[in-house]
Amino acid sequence: MKVLVINAGSSSLKYQLFDMDAQTVLAKGLCERIGIDGKLTHQGGSDEKYKADVPMSTHADAIKAVIDILLDEKWGVIKDMSEINAVGHRVVHGGEYFADSVLITDEVIKAIEACIPLAPLHNTPNLIGIHACEEVMGKDVPQVAVFDTAFHQTMPPKNYMYAIPYEYYEKYKIRRYGFHGTSHKYVSQQAAEMLGRPIEDLKIITCHLGNGSSISAIDGGKSVDTSMGFTPLDGLPMGTRSGNIDPAIIDFLAEHEGIDAHEVINILNKKSGMLGISGVSSDFRDLDSAIAEGNVRAALAKDMFNLSVKKIIGSFIAAMGGVDAIVFTAGVGENDRSVRWDVCEHMEYLGIKIDPEKNKFRGRQMDISIDYARVRVLVIPTNEELVIAQDTQRLVSEAAAK
Ligand code: ADP
Repeated sequence: MKVLVINAGSSSLKYQLFDMDAQTVLAKGLCERIGIDGKLTHQGGSDEKYKADVPMSTHADAIKAVIDILLDEKWGVIKDMSEINAVGHRVVHGGEYFADSVLITDEVIKAIEACIPLAPLHNTPNLIGIHACEEVMGKDVPQVAVFDTAFHQTMPPKNYMYAIPYEYYEKYKIRRYGFHGTSHKYVSQQAAEMLGRPIEDLKIITCHLGNGSSISAIDGGKSVDTSMGFTPLDGLPMGTRSGNIDPAIIDFLAEHEGIDAHEVINILNKKSGMLGISGVSSDFRDLDSAIAEGNVRAALAKDMFNLSVKKIIGSFIAAMGGVDAIVFTAGVGENDRSVRWDVCEHMEYLGIKIDPEKNKFRGRQMDISIDYARVRVLVIPTNEELVIAQDTQRLVSEAAAK
């Protein structure tokens, strides 16, 4: 089975074509500046990268450009569009409707539309991507939605409710949803495999640390808590996001800066976090360079990040009554050994101790704890696209078997 995985944003669209039988990625690429002019970057058919200006006034144009390049004589990897058996879409918000991935039907589209108020900047382009694929590939090609929120639907109410009047949950569904669910699920399952133990017996804390970051507590294979909340602004300080702050700051800033709450939230999303504190960059590599040159605010930003990760891990250990494995994943978690070291420092009393030699490796699956540590600290590269392709294959095969 060949599965096309689509991650549609407001002006961009990422794609990967998987051959599920051979377990390989045949091609991947990115459409950018959709609705502006259009740029396509593609890899497939050869080791070289193909880059071109391709007019894309709509997402349907972008999908057409993807299909064209997949069929191209030099850069393509298929002979006919009908070789694509199914499409898997990343959809950010499934609200309380979806606790698993789902085959897309008219009802599913309605439910994703109903979640637009919860994630207008994400669900809207995700839906446009779904409609664009149907327009270009026809109704007969099955499409699957894989939600960032679905894995966290197992959280109990005491972990997902905010202590605000209950009626706002009833009226607006204001609660913690959590994100990066596809990644947390994947790396926790990989962790169980690495440890050679059934996931049902394990308490795992997964740290997805990238430009956006979240940490999850996974007990017996189920997400029981996570640091992101109603939106991805909650939890850790991130590349440009503040993470959780005293909510009274919003009103204070609005009044003193003469702006409205919407603008304050924009500052908390785009100008805060590592960028806001350091004044240098949201990228951890830039922070490291600045720290090496003695930049005090860059060092402060990273210290704040590491401490926040440590505090959330500590709170999840307390709430779960222990931990068997801590997983580091995503851009920062997989690559930045100083983050891993600082987060796990002084946690020997909990059975957590990293081996500095093993911690030098980066970007590959690895147990970096010292041999006798009770808690295993693991680095596991995430692969959200693979999960989307696997879920798509599973649901399409199940539907065909009925
Ligand atoms: P996104 O949330 O955009 O998917 P990623 O998981 O790709 O983000 O992570 C991107 C971040 O990873 C970058 O902002 C950068 O700070 C960090 N990163 C990538 N490579 C390294 C590295 N070698 N060392 C430190 N940080 C890195």
